[in-house]
Amino acid sequence: MSTPSLKGKTAIVTGSTSGIGLGIAIAFATEGVNVVMNGLGSAADNAAAIEQVSKFGTKVTFDPANMTKPDEIAAMVAKAEKDFGGLDILVNNAGIQHVSPIETFPIEKWDAIIAINLTSAFHSIRAAIPGMKKRNFGRIINIASAHSLRASPFKAAYVAAKHGLDGLTKTVALECAELQITANCISPGFVWTPLVEKQIPDIAKTQNITEDAAKRFLLAKQPSKRFGTVEQIGALAVYLASDAAVAVTGSNYSIDGGWTAE
Ligand code: NAD
Repeated sequence: MSTPSLKGKTAIVTGSTSGIGLGIAIAFATEGVNVVMNGLGSAADNAAAIEQVSKFGTKVTFDPANMTKPDEIAAMVAKAEKDFGGLDILVNNAGIQHVSPIETFPIEKWDAIIAINLTSAFHSIRAAIPGMKKRNFGRIINIASAHSLRASPFKAAYVAAKHGLDGLTKTVALECAELQITANCISPGFVWTPLVEKQIPDIAKTQNITEDAAKRFLLAKQPSKRFGTVEQIGALAVYLASDAAVAVTGSNYSIDGGWTAE
């Protein structure tokens, strides 16, 4: 069933050429939302992702903004507002991961993870809020993680960035609380996407276990013992973007098979 309040709205979904972002972009397009896609994949991967989102008859564009570059992030928001007459929904999803003990954690990986997983959301929200305030409508959805609420060893930068994203979200929610502008986090547990797949060899190496055992090691944290799906995350994003969710702000929604219930 489609959500009438979403038809004709415009969303930016960062990092939407793969994984969860692509799942959210598809879920929005299915609901009649125009989508600005973004990501750093190869031209062929980007084209394949854009094709998947374009099937539903809404307008779909692609912006190559690099989430480490504040001026490119601001330009992406300005272009979306110009092309579509306003930006209704901003999903900060782009993210990377690196797994390493703190004492050998590469400094450039720390910097990149903080930039892409946290600081980019500051820049995109900062650029989007004036237009949202002018039109008194906005839905900001930050894709955090169970690691915004819990820590794991060897993920110093990721855990720090995601905890920071939770704090940023609550602050924006309070600043906009009297308007029709909401800010919320979605915090998935392990969802089977390229980001998770790429961690398996590192975990196997760090723990000195096989890759199959590394998958079980990850799922040991998730009481359901199942990876989540991008469709499940997309469905929650659709709800948070809808008119029905106007009173939901400053929240951090766990969708983690029970991980953070423990
Ligand atoms: P993914 O690797 O499949 O996709 C990441 C996307 O981000 C890609 O489109 C990539 O091109 C884009 N990206 C990376 N660096 C970028 C940059 N500098 N500029 C622009 N785009 C960039 O990852 P995923 O698993 O779909 O993760 C998406 C988000 O969900 C991340 O923020 C991640 O932390 C979060 N998350 C994922 C899981 C999981 O289990 N997969 C769990 C919790 C949270």
